[in-house]
Amino acid sequence: MNTQVFGRVSIEGIEAIALNRTSGTSLPPFDSLNLASYVGDDPHHVTANLEIAKELVLANEISVMNAEHGNTVHVVTKPGIANPGDGLITNQTDLALVALAADCVPFGLVDPVNRVIAVGHAGWRGVLANVMQSLVDEFVASGAQLSHTQAIIGPAICANCYEVPAQRVEQFRKVRPEAISTPRNLDLVAGVKSVLIGQVAQIHELVGCTFENPDLFSYRRAAGEPTGRGGLVIAMSNFAKQNGNE
Ligand SMILES: [Zn+2]
Repeated sequence: MNTQVFGRVSIEGIEAIALNRTSGTSLPPFDSLNLASYVGDDPHHVTANLEIAKELVLANEISVMNAEHGNTVHVVTKPGIANPGDGLITNQTDLALVALAADCVPFGLVDPVNRVIAVGHAGWRGVLANVMQSLVDEFVASGAQLSHTQAIIGPAICANCYEVPAQRVEQFRKVRPEAISTPRNLDLVAGVKSVLIGQVAQIHELVGCTFENPDLFSYRRAAGEPTGRGGLVIAMSNFAKQNGNE
């Protein structure tokens, strides 16, 4: 069993994996499969970890989200760190997309018929801003059909562990009540799911709590100290290359 993979969904040549924090190259406090270049980690270690991520989804190139906790979505065709935004879409085979997260909800969209993939990132700000619908809308504008689309939701902080100020919960009352678990707890995964349900054909949930599971990066567990970011990686394989027929 590969200790780097928290969970995997394979859909007709498209691989989606949620990553553990284990068996990477970074040293504490980024130990060890940190994919974020903005947290203070050694860039060489981040690059080596991105190589691991690419191999896990059978891709040669990778585009990494540069999250800003809003609802901006970018269509990408080139590898590297993307422009600031919380959604990435591509129709390129062999280009993996990464949504970084450490308690926030990483999620993905896959249309294996029209060959379009997307990843998104939603913390409380993103759920309020409805980055989920922004990603769905741009996904359709990029040629996807929702009747063929399957969603993947990665591990995030669970409602029990996500206690927040009461005023923040109240912000959700009118906008996204599905994300309210108690008057002091938010369920971000439920908030993300509430937008995707009824729009996409199927939702795969890789269930886990980042705060409770020591194999996952958690911003809240790090309690103000630096830590790494894991997340969700999705890629469409290049069949011709894999079969040596290119
Ligand atoms: Zn929890």
